[in-house]
Amino acid sequence: MIKPIHIVGGGMAGSEAAWQIVSAGIPVIIHEMRPSVETFAHQTHDLAELVCSNSFRSDDDESNAVGLLHWEMRSANSIIMEMGDKHALPAGSALAVDREAFSASVTKKITNHPLVTIDRSEIHNLPPENWGHTIIATGPLTSKSLANDILENTDQKSLAFFDAIAPIVFADSIDMSKAWMQSRYDKGETDEERTAYLNCPMDKETYDNFIDALLDSEKTEFKDWEKDTPYFDGCLPIEVMAERGKETLRWGPMKPVGLTNPHQPTIKAHAVVQLRRDNALGTLFNIVGFQTKMKYSEQTRVLSMIPGLENAKFARLGGIHRNTFINSPLLLDDQMRLKTRPNIRFAGQITGVEGYVESAAMGLLAGRLAVAESTGKNIKSPPNTTAMGALISHITGGADAKTFQPMNVNFGLFPPVENVKGGRRNRKDRYKAYTDRAKNDWTSWLNNT
Ligand SMILES: Cc1cc2nc3c(=O)[nH]c(=O)nc-3n(C[C@H](O)[C@H](O)[C@H](O)COP(=O)(O)OP(=O)(O)OC[C@H]3O[C@@H](n4cnc5c(N)ncnc54)[C@H](O)[C@@H]3O)c2cc1C
Repeated sequence: MIKPIHIVGGGMAGSEAAWQIVSAGIPVIIHEMRPSVETFAHQTHDLAELVCSNSFRSDDDESNAVGLLHWEMRSANSIIMEMGDKHALPAGSALAVDREAFSASVTKKITNHPLVTIDRSEIHNLPPENWGHTIIATGPLTSKSLANDILENTDQKSLAFFDAIAPIVFADSIDMSKAWMQSRYDKGETDEERTAYLNCPMDKETYDNFIDALLDSEKTEFKDWEKDTPYFDGCLPIEVMAERGKETLRWGPMKPVGLTNPHQPTIKAHAVVQLRRDNALGTLFNIVGFQTKMKYSEQTRVLSMIPGLENAKFARLGGIHRNTFINSPLLLDDQMRLKTRPNIRFAGQITGVEGYVESAAMGLLAGRLAVAESTGKNIKSPPNTTAMGALISHITGGADAKTFQPMNVNFGLFPPVENVKGGRRNRKDRYKAYTDRAKNDWTSWLNNT
């Protein structure tokens, strides 16, 4: 008899992982704590419940990275995409679903499968070795006891409860005639380290206007359940720092010391905004220390006042909300296994991806990788030219562990496509080149697994 694979958490990732596994003929046991333990956000006892919006975002697989992820999932027998398509609602180029019908149909299909057992109980600890292959997919609202056990089995810094996100900018949208690369005091052993930061200078007038705009901007409110959770040290939103005094940011993340602007070497900047490389490819930069609760539209307006970022395009905007996730670049290997307990894989939002589709996608991969391992096959994770591969490479190595933040899929995670003869492609052609390459590479990966 084949040993079952255990899955803890029957949400978006757990459901998709379960479907992939039983479709390969291997039994699963899904441990789902609802209804015996409820979360503040889930309203039903169904599997794959959508806790907030009913949107899977863009369904455009030619010029949008999440649309491409839909395409890759569809081609890999995804139950989330099959039921999403079956219960789609009119939503233009996006895929929106009838949330109740969607979750009910995923639940029915999984529950009715002869290889599925559902255990409706909370798992309090990381499972013991004798469970064999296990996938932890307990999501952003992982129960307290399990979160504490993960903390004890990893280390104190490896589990976050707040998602304090600084905005992330596409490198090629930064105006380098104003910005420059330099680490403070040129610190570092190598040229790469000495030029690790991208700097955007401000004179006094720009700084004063920026602080005023920050203070006047519209902010999102904390939800009731978030209000009592204190900010972590070093994680204050910029607008909270600005409220403490006009100069606070100039003494904090915007301090202008140890830097010389090569565009204006004789003029001392009044303040400097620093951006740090966010991925190994160097296509994304995060704005250092700029976690914020400004509304999204306000962020694009206020941040475009920073010299060099006037036309910045954001891979993701900032935010602060409760969200449990592990430091995957530190803790997981490239097959999503916990390095210290390789029988345990993590999947879904707890790995530091963000969103329904990304979470389900990581469930799909974890399921397939677990199947391969338990049947003695040695398969590699998909290449980072695919949407799946770009996400898994980012969370298990591409991202910097020191500043790791949850990530949506976006083209900044992909290796750049080559330019065409005669110069750069226009944006539409570039996105098409990304998606064509991804489809080709994903199909080859699937055919070889
Ligand atoms: C309030 C809120 C709003 C959100 N809104 C959106 C949105 O609008 N759009 C979007 O794309 N994403 C949104 N997200 C992110 C969203 O949660 C994820 O994208 C997605 O649901 C995560 O999938 P998952 O499978 O990782 O976790 P989940 O879907 O949350 O599934 C995890 C499952 O694990 C169970 N579980 C937890 N701990 C245990 C335990 N110890 N033992 C057994 N079972 C356990 C839970 O009951 C749950 O069923 C939101 C998240 C939150 C918290």
